[in-house]
Amino acid sequence: MQTRNLIDGQWVDADSGATMPVFDPADDSLIAEVPKCGLEEASRSVAAAARRFDGFQSTTPGERVALLRDISRIMADRRDPLAELLTREQGKPLFESRGEVDYARSYLDGAAHELERRSLETRLDPALTGKSVLVHSAPLGVAAIITPWNFPYAMLTKKLGPAFATGCPVVAKPSEETPLSALALAEICVEAGLPSGCFSVVTGDPVPIGEAFFDSQDVRLLSFTGSTATGRKLVRSSSSRLTRLALELGGHAPFIVLEDADIDSAVEGLMISKFRNSGQTCVSPNRIMGHHSLHDPLVSRLAERMKTLVSGRGLDPATNLGPMINDAGIRKVQSHVEDALSRGARLLMGGELRHVEGLSSRFYAPTILLDATPEMLCFQEETFGPVCPIMSFEDVGEAIQIANELPYGLASYVWSSDADRAMFVASRLHTGIVGINDPSPVTSWTPFGGRKQSGWGIEGGAAALDEYAPPKTYSIVGLQDA
Ligand code: ADP
Repeated sequence: MQTRNLIDGQWVDADSGATMPVFDPADDSLIAEVPKCGLEEASRSVAAAARRFDGFQSTTPGERVALLRDISRIMADRRDPLAELLTREQGKPLFESRGEVDYARSYLDGAAHELERRSLETRLDPALTGKSVLVHSAPLGVAAIITPWNFPYAMLTKKLGPAFATGCPVVAKPSEETPLSALALAEICVEAGLPSGCFSVVTGDPVPIGEAFFDSQDVRLLSFTGSTATGRKLVRSSSSRLTRLALELGGHAPFIVLEDADIDSAVEGLMISKFRNSGQTCVSPNRIMGHHSLHDPLVSRLAERMKTLVSGRGLDPATNLGPMINDAGIRKVQSHVEDALSRGARLLMGGELRHVEGLSSRFYAPTILLDATPEMLCFQEETFGPVCPIMSFEDVGEAIQIANELPYGLASYVWSSDADRAMFVASRLHTGIVGINDPSPVTSWTPFGGRKQSGWGIEGGAAALDEYAPPKTYSIVGLQDA
């Protein structure tokens, strides 16, 4: 297991020698110590990346396609150890970690595919003035990347894929909770032949590392995935150099079940989308709204299915519900449930910690709260836990209005067996993506990006490459061969 940082092509400790611990959230055991770096190390990484930019952008698209495919292939070869490492530091069940390795690879393969598909666009000036116009996708330069702990591989490859495809060197700061996955990925990149210095990984204090990114004119894009609160801080810090930002922030997905929905399909959809990573995902349904005509059977079938959720250590094959990542995470879940109950919600199941023999106290029982209302905290902020607050609605207009009234606009879900009705409702939801009878709408081949306070910019799909290499226009006069 690699525990040192990769800075300018060298595996190093923090300048001070300081380290920070990485714990297994399932049992609090110490997995490793990683360097606690700060401003100096991050600045050196940025400077190294800036020196490598010319060389990296001059590699051929074919070389970069091969590089992305090689990284992806090595990840596939190491699927099991990578998944185990992820489960140990993050807690999610092993089958989900294997799935994340595949999902993370799809962003590298997707970027390689898009790069292969792209060619230079050559256009004549439409005014026929004798000019020729070339439009290139030109890489911005050094990209700084800050990633969260909930999908440590995938949130990184979502950004690395398009960055490497377009020839942008990267300096990444993974979450303090899950630095080991990023270091394992860095090891693979080195093995795949990524030019030295084109990918540095700096672990440590977020604030000084962030400062180093914003202090440098060489950082041409900072791509961040994390909470809206941190996103807001980054926007403030970016103002001094107007650092370009891409932000994938928090959401609060509504899950609307119309009267003509297939109830079993909606329940299965909830089992997947709500309980993936124990509810610790930004596209997790947080406001479940069922038409009153099917509310009761929806609730009872969901409760039946939720009884099959087994909490435990992610490495145990029987587990399909892991722990919350940390104590703050479990406290947040508890406070949302307490708040809902104090405001009149009815507890159908769960609502308490789940004791798992020999493990930490970060396991929360799968919970159903009935009679949820928009005033409750769980209907306003991401709970990031295995809690299903459910409300019944009479009129779909009311459900759409509630769905849209929060300042978030990341994902939403609509369940219906009528295509026109489903599309009508989906088209009125102010989110970047809508799953229509689909609990997993986010893929590497489709664009994904939030509206309102859920973020700026696009990841996935062809548009992802434009974030790192926007169009640059050459307007040419007098060069016959151009
Ligand atoms: P969460 O609450 O889910 O942990 P955060 O937004 O706090 O989400 O964290 C996401 C990432 O942002 C992590 O890598 C974290 O270290 C980093 N981060 C948090 N605060 C800052 C900051 N002020 N500057 C730079 N990075 C930060």
